[in-house]
Amino acid sequence: MCADIEKLREVLDSFKSAGIEYLHIDVMDGVFVPNYTLGTDYVKQLRRLSDIPLDIHLMIERPEDKISWFDPRPGEYFSVHTESTPHIHRALSKIREAGAKPMAAVNPGTHYRCIEHLLDYIDAVLVMCVNPGYAGQALIESSIPKIANLRRWLDMSGHAGIEIEVDGNVSFANAKRMREAGANIFVAGSSSVFSPSFSIPGAIAKLRDVIG
Ligand code: ZN
Repeated sequence: MCADIEKLREVLDSFKSAGIEYLHIDVMDGVFVPNYTLGTDYVKQLRRLSDIPLDIHLMIERPEDKISWFDPRPGEYFSVHTESTPHIHRALSKIREAGAKPMAAVNPGTHYRCIEHLLDYIDAVLVMCVNPGYAGQALIESSIPKIANLRRWLDMSGHAGIEIEVDGNVSFANAKRMREAGANIFVAGSSSVFSPSFSIPGAIAKLRDVIG
């Protein structure tokens, strides 16, 4: 969403040479969040342009009806919001059945304990650190202790293998704090990798440096 469409190939080449692990794709439906962004055709074209695995973040209502539209592949992450459907197990199971890695996403106002009954169905938790909808928002400060508490709770409940992804204002300074709190997947957007103050390779190197 943050990449300049005119320079998309150049951006993808920089990501490939920097060893970026996933391309995070924000899909918004104008209902679950107040914005429209990337959709099925964009995902199809992106898979044609790059072999970096996708990490598809579905900010859409009733995702269980639409997961197949995105043709999930083994090795990809798909995240669905706990707030977006009354049938979250159905959505997570469809991702798993397709061979992709299911991730449960929680908004800043949602307690992480809402995933308690999903733990056997997920590989990761996506902690939103801003309310989803737009790039360039300021961090909701309670996200940092939330990540730390979630990490501790997962470890103590026998789920140390479940990863934590952070999304929203992952700036260089915030990324360091998120890392210390226990996050291990970082969605880099306009406040780091796409910051106008850095080249993309320079920003990636700086981000890798702060998260160690
Ligand atoms: Zn996202």
